[in-house]
Amino acid sequence: MTIAIIVHGGAWDIPAEEHQAHLDGCRAAMLAGYEILRGGGTALDAVERAVTMMEDDPTFDAGVGSHLNRDGVVQLDAGVMDGGTLQVGAVAAVERLQNPIRVARHLLNSAHNMMVGHGADSYAAEHGFELCDPEKLIVEREVARWKLAQKETPTSSDEFGKIVRGAKPGTVGAVAIDRRGNIVAGTSTGGTLYKPVGRVGDSPLPGCGYFADNALGGVSTTGHGESIIRIQLARVAADFCSRLYAPAAAQAAISMLGDRVGGLGGLILIDHTGRVGFAHNTPHMARAYLTSEMSSPVVAIR
Ligand code: ASP
Repeated sequence: MTIAIIVHGGAWDIPAEEHQAHLDGCRAAMLAGYEILRGGGTALDAVERAVTMMEDDPTFDAGVGSHLNRDGVVQLDAGVMDGGTLQVGAVAAVERLQNPIRVARHLLNSAHNMMVGHGADSYAAEHGFELCDPEKLIVEREVARWKLAQKETPTSSDEFGKIVRGAKPGTVGAVAIDRRGNIVAGTSTGGTLYKPVGRVGDSPLPGCGYFADNALGGVSTTGHGESIIRIQLARVAADFCSRLYAPAAAQAAISMLGDRVGGLGGLILIDHTGRVGFAHNTPHMARAYLTSEMSSPVVAIR
């Protein structure tokens, strides 16, 4: 059985001086997840580990280093789906969790699918997760971006495109398939720069920011959330896996994002046979992947 993992660190116009940090962060997270798979571990553990590492890396717009909202506060969204059980776990607009993907994973095995806002933070605390000081999620680079963004607010996909060229959406995600053929997909984000307080994008919504079904494949997406939600990009990409080769399925879904709703973004996927695919219609998407069929990993940004 093929094992495989692919991770992304967001789709946008990544400035040259930030390329190396994105490549390094994606590579490290992917290799950590792959080690779990190679040792016979589960896709769920591999995805959680990879996403957690990228949440802890201030390079990315997830966990520490996330964009600030209009109030100058970090509000995080994350979701994960198991392709075998079709269970979903997600949190949205949380302010006191450094690793929202861990709480999303906890919810996957609970009676509920999604918790939001302060209720989610309280739920996490009640279930043994450590709450962090919201200040801990804020880095200087993002404070500077927030000050600049106060002068220019994106309200449409088009304007998001302009902001993409000047700022950084750098959502993270991972998809893995383990020895048992189980596929898991997860995504974590600080959302868009200078978003209104309480705004939630595609990332915590199953079928939009992520999707997994062992009969089709697993997908994690990134980009303009308001566009991605309109076509349920992750679900669309997984459906394409039933009739297209994985790389073509990824491309077909991104073409639909651009053609149908003028959206900008990217996605990674693994189909039910362990084949990897990715596509983006932004200048860059940081990504890294490795399968048991490959002799060395691929780590790329263009
Ligand atoms: N999709 C995320 C959102 O709209 C942002 C991103 O992927 O960069 O919240």
